[in-house]
Amino acid sequence: MTFSHLVSYFEKIEATSKRLEMFAILADLFREAHADEIDQVVYFLQGELLPAFHGINMGMSEKYLLRAITHAAGVDHDTLLQQHRTLGDIGKTVEHYSQTKEESSQTISEVYQAIYHIAMMSGEGSVDRKIDALAALFSSLSATEAKYAARFVAGQLRLGAGDATILEALALSHGDRAFRTSLDRAYNLTSDLGLLAKTFGQKGEAGILATSVRCGYPIRSALCERLPSSEEIIEKIGRCSVEIKYDGFRCQAHKQGDTVILFSRNQERTTPMFPEIVDALQTVFRQNDIILEGEALAVNEATGEAFPFQVTMQRKRKHGIDLLAKDVPLKFFVFDLLYLDGVDYTQYPYKARRDKLIALLHKHKEGEHRGSPLPPQNTVMDISEAIETDDPKTLSRFFNNVVERGYEGIVAKRLESLYTAGSRNFNWIKLKRSYKGEITDTLDLCIVGYFFGKGARARLGIGTILAAVYDPSAARFKTVSKIGTGFSEAELTDLKALLDEITLSEKPHELDAEMIPDVWVLPKYVVPVTADEITQSQSHTACCDAEGAGLSLRFPRVTGFVRSDKGPYDVTTTTEIAALFHQQKRIQVE
Ligand code: AMP
Repeated sequence: MTFSHLVSYFEKIEATSKRLEMFAILADLFREAHADEIDQVVYFLQGELLPAFHGINMGMSEKYLLRAITHAAGVDHDTLLQQHRTLGDIGKTVEHYSQTKEESSQTISEVYQAIYHIAMMSGEGSVDRKIDALAALFSSLSATEAKYAARFVAGQLRLGAGDATILEALALSHGDRAFRTSLDRAYNLTSDLGLLAKTFGQKGEAGILATSVRCGYPIRSALCERLPSSEEIIEKIGRCSVEIKYDGFRCQAHKQGDTVILFSRNQERTTPMFPEIVDALQTVFRQNDIILEGEALAVNEATGEAFPFQVTMQRKRKHGIDLLAKDVPLKFFVFDLLYLDGVDYTQYPYKARRDKLIALLHKHKEGEHRGSPLPPQNTVMDISEAIETDDPKTLSRFFNNVVERGYEGIVAKRLESLYTAGSRNFNWIKLKRSYKGEITDTLDLCIVGYFFGKGARARLGIGTILAAVYDPSAARFKTVSKIGTGFSEAELTDLKALLDEITLSEKPHELDAEMIPDVWVLPKYVVPVTADEITQSQSHTACCDAEGAGLSLRFPRVTGFVRSDKGPYDVTTTTEIAALFHQQKRIQVE
């Protein structure tokens, strides 16, 4: 098809505001276009050289386009700028200066290839070469053709043909609206409408039905519905897998050969943001082609708990990622397997995908270990933590536990569900907190034990402390928090020296505790502590209710070293912390 003929379609599309008419025009276009060029037709309609996930940028600003037009027209640049301001559209400007009225004989592919070639020019002098090549292209086209070509290059070809419209028109061109379901499925698996149109053009319906996931093409994300309570979740989907909902960046990792590409939830390339995930995939899956999906987030190495989202957010910056990767290490919590060595796992039930993931990662966190641990060099990738249950109470307990650990809630997943790309349904149900508390007061807590810590902290021999409040009426200490944030390395070293003088071989007899530290110590030293909020937790014993949930601190941090003016019986009491819990400001989440 000639480019000029395509342009006549553009004009028809622009002239209508009726959706049905638009579908009909597009369907005619798709029927008429040759299978070898229909992908380019789709990209023209979308106003992009290729879908954004391919990572190819046109790289031509309006400023350069105006220079190219000046060049092609051989006019004074300032006069042209003046005229452009009056016309207000790059397309009209090029049309105004073009002397060619008759249609060119160039095909769609020739024009597309010329523009593609220009976009690919790089290196020294490439701007001038691009301007020259564009000027030549504009001169070779008719005024009307140049108008649309210029708008396309400037990213201003807004024909209003969105993804859904193109899919609808493709179905219509087939003469069967029911075909839309198959097209949607293929689109959700590949995210590339041009590829789809071409497959359809070359192989017909059978080609669309046979479409499956492929490395390098982002699969459109499966999304969660929401329900307000554990009871409703179990009622809706019965026995299910309940995973931690990690509050970070969704990351779909594609590895093919040595190449790893990472995509965001919206199918954008995010590879440079997470060099350690790229490394981890190359190391662990050296022999495989694979697509994994998970959440990348910053985790506090010492406590193994999540950092607030703001910490993970720092990865959005452009420079200094390597340094950041050292300072604030990320973990990649993998929650799905979508493809492995030629097998499309989106067609398998959740349970089968998860079992395969567990086998692949050689370990899991649902209790027993079934395999050998991951190779030691991989500290980045981990499988999402999950339990399987049909009991709302168990689900609630897990929920409280993960919220206390700094996560935002859970996602419950139907065990038999396939991966429903691009769709939001009850196969995945999220339960998030509707309110979060906010405390402003500092607490004084008594240290009753410590943990050795992980990562860099392990070297110091102390990573976190176990801390308690006091219940004067029962004359018992009760734990409320495990704290690893706020100490400098020097302070931790000093603290360890102090605590090692008062270690106990078993739990202090005045203490009630569920959590067991690596080392118990005599309740003696007091530290000031602040936190984001007070939450309920099964892991702590302060103010335990009938269900066994005590009070605990979310995102706790010490605000100073050991207080010399306070002894163990002067710490915050259970009555005080209960009052703080009830008085804390309640802020609606989302
Ligand atoms: P929302 O953005 O609140 O609709 O929640 C859905 C998002 O939660 C997904 O897009 C994922 O990025 C994220 N997420 C975190 N953890 C999980 C998990 N275990 N399973 C599925 N999605 C998760």
